[in-house]
Parts: sequence; structure tokens; C-alpha cells
Amino acid sequence: MPRQNIPLGKILGISIGLDYSWFVVFILMTWTLAIGYYPVEFPGWSSPQYWVVGGMTAVLFFACVLLHEIGHSIVALRYKIPVRSITFFVFGGVAQIESDPPSAVSEFFVAIAGPLVSFALGAIFYGMGSVFSGLGPFSGLLRYLAYINLVIAGFNLIPGYPLDGGRVFRAVVWAITNNFRRSTIIAANVGQFFGFSFIFLGIWKIFHGNFGEGLWISFIGWFLGNAAASQIQQTTFQGWLGEYKVSQAMSRSCDTVSEQESLKELVEEQIISRGSRCFLVEREGVPVGLVTLHQIKEIPRSDWGERTAGQVMIPMESLKRVQSSDSLSSALKMMDRDGVNQLPVMNDGQVVGVLTREGVITFLSLFQELRG
Ligand SMILES: [Zn+2]
Repeated sequence: MPRQNIPLGKILGISIGLDYSWFVVFILMTWTLAIGYYPVEFPGWSSPQYWVVGGMTAVLFFACVLLHEIGHSIVALRYKIPVRSITFFVFGGVAQIESDPPSAVSEFFVAIAGPLVSFALGAIFYGMGSVFSGLGPFSGLLRYLAYINLVIAGFNLIPGYPLDGGRVFRAVVWAITNNFRRSTIIAANVGQFFGFSFIFLGIWKIFHGNFGEGLWISFIGWFLGNAAASQIQQTTFQGWLGEYKVSQAMSRSCDTVSEQESLKELVEEQIISRGSRCFLVEREGVPVGLVTLHQIKEIPRSDWGERTAGQVMIPMESLKRVQSSDSLSSALKMMDRDGVNQLPVMNDGQVVGVLTREGVITFLSLFQELRG
């Protein structure tokens, strides 16, 4: 989900960003610590002290979550898996790791690295807390950080995908079954189970007078269950798509037009009268680019007379290509990754057709209808 966030800079080439929802956590955390936790655990500080220590704790908590994500990222980079960004949002941090893990072993170590960092931080803060035990607010802060890091480690090790523990679990199932897709679905089902359990636990707490905590736990459960469910859907869909080839959904009747042809001619003669939707643009018989409805719609209608296909086309060299024997799932992944809606299909340097998102959808709906 590429959303607007506040960039904080780069670490190891990975951009770090804050989603606005993270401020909710920051404020909520500072507030609960300053009003609830610290005054109960450490009575006798002044009121500003509670707020300052509360705020500092929230900032350091953020730093700890960042280190947890960097833990995942370093191991991912070790395995040559690109990490695009780390974003902080209402439920903590998430490292955007670009591709599926190449092997069960790499998945295992990437997943376990984060909780290990959190465990280590917990132990370090615990040790420091024992050393500086007489220092009032400072030792209170250390004690809380020790506690919260152990909670982060423990929570993330719950074996339901997409939590870290779920990834570890998936890696183990994957190593045993040798089937990535199957193990993802199994781990995500466990994730859904934990999601529902959290929702019930939260509701139970709400009915026993613990409204704030109950609501929060339910909320986490809902988020977890949703993420797991969409993973199941996506994996099933990809498995299904993986059985089909680009050649089955591509359009072969991609008309060719000369680069001098105006958009007006193109629309009137090809699109309206013949229903064509995408065109290979030729220069002296050689395809040099691609024009789809999408490019035409970007140009104001009043300019269609002057603009030519050659001016609005996407040049061939900037188009990613697929082969007709590639699987539909890999072609769609490529479209998603590069944010494009069409790919020329090329075999041995020859354009044999065009695969568009529209074409894939048409193919899938047709197939669905025929199946019943
Ligand atoms: Zn993690």
C-alpha cells in the first residue's frame, strides 16, 4: 500500500518513513505512560517528569521497533533480497521486502532476525535497569523498555502469518513440504485463527470492564485476521493464475498503426468502428512503441487532431516484455512492480501480441463463466 508518509531518511539504502497513523500510537503511548503506567509503578515523580519520561519512552520505543525492522532487513539484504522501505504505522513498523523469499532457509532467518533483535534489546535494557536501579525516572524508563521489547519479541513470535512467528512457521512447513504456496496458506490459516482469538479475547476484556485494552486487542486481531485472509486469497489466486500462460490471455490482434497517424484517426477508424484497444506503432515496418486507450485518454480531446501516435506512444525500449510462454502470475507481478498496465509479448525479438490488464480480466471472467 503505497501511501503518503513522512520521509525520515535512509539507512543501508532503505528509505525510512512515518505514516501519519503512527502519531496516534505516539500520543496514545505517551499519554497512557504519563497518566497510567509510570504514576502507578513509580509514585512520587512530578507531573512534568511523568510526561517527559512518557514522551521519551515513546521515542525510544520507536527506535527499538526500527532496530527490529533493520534486523529483518539486514538479513534480507544478506540473501540478496531487495528491501525498499521501512514504514511506521499504527501497528508498528513494516519492512517492505520486495520479492518472495528464495528459499525456506532464507525465509527462516529473515523472519527470526527481528524478534532476536527485540530479545537482545530487552536483555540489554534489563541489564542496564539492574545496574542503574536507583536512578528514579531513568531506571523506570529502562525497566519499561526491557518489558516492551520482550513483549514485541513474544508477540511477533506467535506462529500466525503474517507475523514473524508465522513466517518462521511457514519456513518450517515449506522445508518439510517443499511447497511454498501450500505452506503460505497453512501459515495464513493459523494467522486467521489467532486473529479471531484476539478479537474474542478483546471482546471478553471489554465485557469485563477493561474497555481500552479490550478494544486495542480486538483491533489488532481484526488487522491480523484481515492480513491473513487477504494473503490466502492472493496466494490462491496466484496459484490459479500460475497455471495459465500469457499466450492464453494476450491479444494477438494488436493493430499496427504508423507513427504519423493522428489520435483522431486512430479513435474514429480503429477504436470506435473496430473496437481495437491497443496499437503497435510502427516506423518503416518496425514496431517502435505501444499506444493504448490509457495514453489516448490522457490527451485532451481537442488536441487529438494534432497529436500523433508517435508522440504519445510508450517507446519500445522503455517497455518491459514478456514471452508468450511465461505464466500469467509472473506477468501480472511484473505489471504490479513496474506500475504498468500493458506488456508487449515478444518471442525471438518479434512482437507477437500485447498483454493488458484488461485482457487478463476478460480472460479470467470468460473462464469463470465457462466453468459455471
Ligand atoms: Zn518483525
